[in-house]
Amino acid sequence: AAKHKGRNQARAYSADLEQANQRTFTLRRELADALMNNELRVFLQPVFDLETLDVIGAEALVRWQHPSMGLLSPGEFLPVAQASKMMGAIDHWVLDATLRQVSAWHAQGRWKPDWRVSINQNTDDIRHKDWASELARMLKKLNLPAQAVGIELTEELWTEPVPVVLKNLRTIQQMGLTLYIDDFGTGYSSLAYLKELPASVIKIDQHFVAQLDSANEDSTLVEAIIALGKKLQYQLIAEGVETEAQRKVLLAKGCTAAQGYLLSPPLSAKCFEERFLPEPSPT
Ligand code: C2E
Ligand code: MG
Ligand code: MG
Ligand code: MG
Repeated sequence: AAKHKGRNQARAYSADLEQANQRTFTLRRELADALMNNELRVFLQPVFDLETLDVIGAEALVRWQHPSMGLLSPGEFLPVAQASKMMGAIDHWVLDATLRQVSAWHAQGRWKPDWRVSINQNTDDIRHKDWASELARMLKKLNLPAQAVGIELTEELWTEPVPVVLKNLRTIQQMGLTLYIDDFGTGYSSLAYLKELPASVIKIDQHFVAQLDSANEDSTLVEAIIALGKKLQYQLIAEGVETEAQRKVLLAKGCTAAQGYLLSPPLSAKCFEERFLPEPSPT
């Protein structure tokens, strides 16, 4: 009977695998059209001051409003995009859509002058030598100050910093944009690269934040990351704060900004606007 069970499990497993492959195949085929058919969405997750609970900005996170599968999260389709060399196109779309949305709010006087929106970018796009100048052109056209915009990059992307990427990053820093190191502590980069990168914000990965109130609570790593970040004069933002206990520990250890379900999930632009923006002032 045990043998039989094993065989059935193997069959069930391969059926699952078959289904997963089928889904990936379908998504790959449809993703190209999704861009053209305007099915991608920018969601915004507010970032909060942990002490005052004031909003200090937001992170743009892409979603795919799929016609039959519903709202898909990046984990479901970015790997497909990566494999089919569409990452650059998607990142460019997200950058453009986010900047246009924020500039509209900015023009209405509803985007606070000290708020910053941060946009995740894969290095595929940043490898283009014109990436920084294109970004400058977009900001100018939209009349959006560079101070209102940040770019988030994951650490693993610069295990081997490419000269053209570094050049682009230095250019946008000189323009006044802010560079974030995303998912800090999960990549494989050496600390030596920190010095080369013109970044000023470190995002503490949710993996470390989760350890702050698990059964065997362990704040050692979070403490070490915060201490390192402060010593090197980075602004620190914790990701994935889900409980009041986590908020308290982070604050006690010196991390003063965060995002997470405790404070707000990522929201559609319309919800973000309704919930967090002041009414447009009559002109
Ligand atoms: P990330 O940049 O580290 O974004 C944070 C992720 O944590 C988001 O997942 C967010 O929805 C989720 N999150 C927020 N608060 C909580 C919480 O309290 N608990 C938990 N467990 N999770 C929380 P999401 O939106 O699914 O995005 C996943 C990843 O996909 C992002 O991780 C980012 O690396 C990537 N991504 C998203 N949008 C883009 C994009 O436009 N371009 C690129 N290149 N990557 C993107
Ligand atoms: Mg991010
Ligand atoms: Mg992150
Ligand atoms: Mg993360």
